[in-house]
Amino acid sequence: MKRILFLAIFTLIISAACSSSPDVMDTAIDKQKELDAAYEKATSEMANDAKAKAKEERLAQEEEDRKIHDEEERKAIEDRLAQEEEDRLAQEEEERKAIEDRLAQEEEERKAIEDRLAQEEEDRLAQEEETGDPRKDEIDMFKRIVSENTGPACNIYGIAPCPEWPNFIKTKPSKNDIPVYKESSCEGKFDSTEYLLKSPKEAYIDCLINASKSDAKPYVIQGAQMDPKVKEAVLEAQQYGAELLGNWGPLLNVFVRYGEPDLEYIASQECLYRSKYSDYDYDGCYEYTYWYYRTFDDCCGAMHGTPMALASVRFQSMTYNGPDKQYESQEIRKSTLHEYIHVWQSAFKVHPHETRCSDEANKLCELGNGPLWLEEGSAEYFAVYFAEKKAWSNLRFVLTEKLTSAQNVYNKWGFTLKNSHNRGAKDKLDQHECNCGGAIMYDMGIWGIAWLVHKSKSNDGFLKEFYPRVAYIGYQQAFENAFGLTLDEFYNEFALWFDQTPKSEKLKIIDVISKY
Ligand SMILES: [Zn+2]
Repeated sequence: MKRILFLAIFTLIISAACSSSPDVMDTAIDKQKELDAAYEKATSEMANDAKAKAKEERLAQEEEDRKIHDEEERKAIEDRLAQEEEDRLAQEEEERKAIEDRLAQEEEERKAIEDRLAQEEEDRLAQEEETGDPRKDEIDMFKRIVSENTGPACNIYGIAPCPEWPNFIKTKPSKNDIPVYKESSCEGKFDSTEYLLKSPKEAYIDCLINASKSDAKPYVIQGAQMDPKVKEAVLEAQQYGAELLGNWGPLLNVFVRYGEPDLEYIASQECLYRSKYSDYDYDGCYEYTYWYYRTFDDCCGAMHGTPMALASVRFQSMTYNGPDKQYESQEIRKSTLHEYIHVWQSAFKVHPHETRCSDEANKLCELGNGPLWLEEGSAEYFAVYFAEKKAWSNLRFVLTEKLTSAQNVYNKWGFTLKNSHNRGAKDKLDQHECNCGGAIMYDMGIWGIAWLVHKSKSNDGFLKEFYPRVAYIGYQQAFENAFGLTLDEFYNEFALWFDQTPKSEKLKIIDVISKY
């Protein structure tokens, strides 16, 4: 642009200089001035333009830089705030967890002390005036548990005041109400001193296991004025158990409320039933049962009674302590399912020596169900697992709670499932300062089951392999077949996993096993 202007001006000067007339000269000079002025104006405008533009560009650049800088600063502040918030939340969560753990620990310690005191009291009562007849000593102890109570409770174990039942009409026991069952007998014989069967083994065991099956309706003994919904709930859960695992029994259900006003009827009816279908003597049964039930506390529990070996009717029992309270707290269906799993497990205990073996505290019966933690852990695991499908329980909740308990005992004392292999070992844990027989057997036990289910990627190890096969091949071999490792290998691998896996990682297996 500048070059074009210079050329134009130069051409004009040349052409003016070539003219010779003075007028022409003046005009040319004027013209020249004009041109000079125009040139000056043009160049100065150009310079101003350039300056303005440069300034504009600089300002734009500055503005842009400022914006970038501001944005960077804003982001930095934002990041810092987000980080601070995250740190604060993490800190809070950690504190909350610490408090939770501490509370759980305290609760556990409180329970341990309570249990120990109760045990000491029981031992004291048991040792008073021994007669040498263990059954009579036990009944005397039950009587003292009732008579030595000085508070408003029904016995020394109770906490709530013993309930009153004005105008209660008691039920009369009746032999005619006892159901009549089909009897079965199997051709064969056990050796009287060994586990060995004298008869062809497989067929005899098949027959004995079959004798544990029954399509008979569960029988219920309960006091008058019991809420009928309790019985309904129990039968519903037993029906569900039968759908899942088959019909085993027959089942005898006994409901005992706290301070049961119809206790004479309940004890009597139960003993009529037992003396009909097992070798119980009615009078001895009545005295024992009546006084035992009077020691029941406010809440709650359920007990399973195994079938008699080689009996022609292999009935199994469920005795409920405070079934009305369990119904109110919506626990009764899950706890019934737990007991039904014991019924199913016990259906495979067909060897008469099984009972004798479990009486020996330090020995497990080879053809029985193996360690107690396995029996209890799997009963609770599958009860909760199946109950969850009916919205009666929650696997994650239960496993999380049990893990806290097991982890607390482990962190403090280092005990694992190996320390609860047989009844003697479990009793030792109860007598130990930790008083943790229950925590290891049930709470770590259910985690032993969860670990095995996770490892074998299926429930079949328990449901199809282990229990259905123990009577034939023994618990050690059945365990190895079901889970691909020996029980000793399991104890070591599980202990290592329990020790080295953070709690949050342990809990992650629930996502997987809950879907099997
Ligand atoms: Zn149990």
